Amino acid sequence: MPVPRTVIENCAVATVDEHDTEYARGHLVLAGPLIESVGDGPAPRGLEGVVRRIDATGHLATPGLINTHHHFYQWLTRGLAAEHGLFDWLVALYPLWSRIDEPMVRAAARGSLAVLARGGVTTAADHHYIHPRGSGDLSGAIVGAARETGVRLTLARGSMDLGASRGGLPPDFAVESLDGALAATEETIDAHHDASPDAMVQIAVAPCSPFSVSAELLRQGAELARRKGVRLHTHGSETAEEERYCRQRFGMGPTDYLASTGWLGPDVWMAHCVHMTDEDIAAFARTGTGVAHCPSSNARLAAGIARVPDLLAAGVPVGLGVDGSASNESGELHTELRNALLISRLGAHREHALNARRALRLATHGGARVLGRADRIGSLEPGKLADLVLWRLDTLAHASIADPVAALALGAPAPVTLSLVGGETVVEDGRLTGVDEEAVARSTREQARRLGSV
Ligand SMILES: [Zn+2]
Repeated sequence: MPVPRTVIENCAVATVDEHDTEYARGHLVLAGPLIESVGDGPAPRGLEGVVRRIDATGHLATPGLINTHHHFYQWLTRGLAAEHGLFDWLVALYPLWSRIDEPMVRAAARGSLAVLARGGVTTAADHHYIHPRGSGDLSGAIVGAARETGVRLTLARGSMDLGASRGGLPPDFAVESLDGALAATEETIDAHHDASPDAMVQIAVAPCSPFSVSAELLRQGAELARRKGVRLHTHGSETAEEERYCRQRFGMGPTDYLASTGWLGPDVWMAHCVHMTDEDIAAFARTGTGVAHCPSSNARLAAGIARVPDLLAAGVPVGLGVDGSASNESGELHTELRNALLISRLGAHREHALNARRALRLATHGGARVLGRADRIGSLEPGKLADLVLWRLDTLAHASIADPVAALALGAPAPVTLSLVGGETVVEDGRLTGVDEEAVARSTREQARRLGSV
């Protein structure tokens, strides 16, 4: 029995390989869960076992988009505290967040994943750091929602143990104990982490931020991650107030503080990294530490403009993240390509900051590097997993834009005709195949009502 093959032809192809190879009218052949070939013109004739042949005229094929930072549970608390900067926004929302439970998190994860997947995301990271006592199996709920939707998941099992009475930002009732957080994180790794190259679910260790966790949780969390062979994730250098907090409390900036607790290295990625000195950037580059760039959230919370061109020039791995939907209500990653490009041009490098192809690279190959998976996902190359998207560019919104990659990055969000994860269909003709969107929308509304946020 030959392996079942899918043939995709007549589309523009942006491979995002190391040479940025593109084909104006090319093809892809998929064999089971893998890409077998990609190239110019029509697919080779006489292939055996072809079960599906797609005429993708008018489309652009790209690697599936990779979201490197999110907080799925925030899907239920959107549109609140909309005139606040980060610390005031957090303080306003912690009381609401500390009432979440398993049915709420399940609904929120389904909503977040549905919107990501419908917009061409094939791998998503979720940083879940709030675990109210007695709230149930939140990690299991998130993993289950990802399996239903069909996208790959990196669940960063987050934690907070530094309540306000000990100098942290969150109220005491919103935090876990040090030992409780570490034990629950280890349980989550044992229950769900898959180390294989085609894994659908991976777990990372993810204390929340320098102002909500103790130095001991950072230190022991890093030890746990390295003992288990999983990645490490946290927030860093998001705002000027975080920088001030770290200087007052620790006598150093966030990067030096995180470095002092074991939090720089090729197995670490950090969200935001907006307020970085030249020395901070050099330290990230030297250690291979990755960055999840979240331009919409940084704008929503008036955090600042991340130095993405400088990070890239230094060789730092950079991916894109939507961040939690309480600070980015759209929850869509493809709009982050556009915002990353546009907002970076408001910074020091102006029109040379980013272009459409570099933005697409951040959203695909860059994200794969940040999540430690660039050997198997993030570009369209033979032997890689068949995680790819066909973007429709021949309708009113895009048909008159000459360059398909510019159409994707600068134009309106492009309709997704097909999205595949490991060759399995996740989106077809703009509709999710694994979940009922209307049912998900209803349940998110019901659970937001239970929480009291709508
Ligand atoms: Zn975040």
